Amino acid sequence: MTETAAHTTGSFTPPTRFAVPGRIEVDGAAAGTWQTATLTEIRRETHRASTFRFAVPGWAGHLPGQHLMLRLTAEDGYVAQRHYSLASAPDDSGHIELTLDHVEDGEVSGWFHTVARPGDRIEVRGPLSGFFAWPGDRPALLLGAGSGVVPLMSMVRHHRALGLTVPLRLLVSARTPGELIYARELGTETTPVFTRGAPAGTPVGRMTTAHLAPLLAEAPAGGWEAYVCGSNSFAEHASRLLVAAGQPVDRIRIERFG
Ligand SMILES: Cc1cc2nc3c(=O)[nH]c(=O)nc-3n(C[C@H](O)[C@H](O)[C@H](O)COP(=O)(O)OP(=O)(O)OC[C@H]3O[C@@H](n4cnc5c(N)ncnc54)[C@H](O)[C@@H]3O)c2cc1C
Repeated sequence: MTETAAHTTGSFTPPTRFAVPGRIEVDGAAAGTWQTATLTEIRRETHRASTFRFAVPGWAGHLPGQHLMLRLTAEDGYVAQRHYSLASAPDDSGHIELTLDHVEDGEVSGWFHTVARPGDRIEVRGPLSGFFAWPGDRPALLLGAGSGVVPLMSMVRHHRALGLTVPLRLLVSARTPGELIYARELGTETTPVFTRGAPAGTPVGRMTTAHLAPLLAEAPAGGWEAYVCGSNSFAEHASRLLVAAGQPVDRIRIERFG
């Protein structure tokens, strides 16, 4: 495993390949090598979530659904590491994007949302996880909640960027329309579900089998590969709904942010 020497991160201070089914092979060298990522842009998505764009000249490329390990190092040597999904579709721009929720009292997300500025340097290692990757080769039924939509958006963007015709549907849960990450980008492939507040005429409540039934009824030949991402409780809820609606258990892939 190769590692670059640890370096300090701006003003960070601690607060008070195709294998179906199964795992896609991960490049061990890329997964084990820390690289410097320079923050180039911050875009607000909702009042709690922003997208952070980084230049990573040596990025090995990724598949939609994969994530990375991110490391912040304070001047006193204190290190904080967290996993983050890749929000951007694979491309050869030498840039990657992450979308972070601002978690209350969160050490790393708090630093990004209150301190980080373009030009700051952090470290990343990846891409990681072959299991949740979607190469674009099979019909995909995507279920996400909150920031769980991040890796699913990479899949949607990849689908659009390549003009893929393989069926893809996204069922995404957010508390309110204002908290729906990527709202402006979501298209006809997406069904939003609002749990706390919605425009007049739109029902409010949790995701149910009624949301899934029409999608499973229109399952393409060979069926869907389901990808579920969100908190532990959402992952449990959504996977139970899928099984109850007839989705085979071995065709449900789950990523938990909890
Ligand atoms: C594979 C993977 C991919 C992930 N991808 C993303 C992503 O794309 N975007 C994203 O925003 N997050 C993502 N996460 C979550 C992320 O790794 C961190 O857990 C999150 O940013 C909180 O870190 P923090 O340092 O800000 O908070 P911490 O300092 O670790 O926690 C502060 C407090 O918040 C609580 N807490 C921690 N995490 C959460 C959470 N997610 N929701 C609510 N409360 C929490 C803790 O229990 C603690 O009380 C992912 C996690 C995994 C495992």
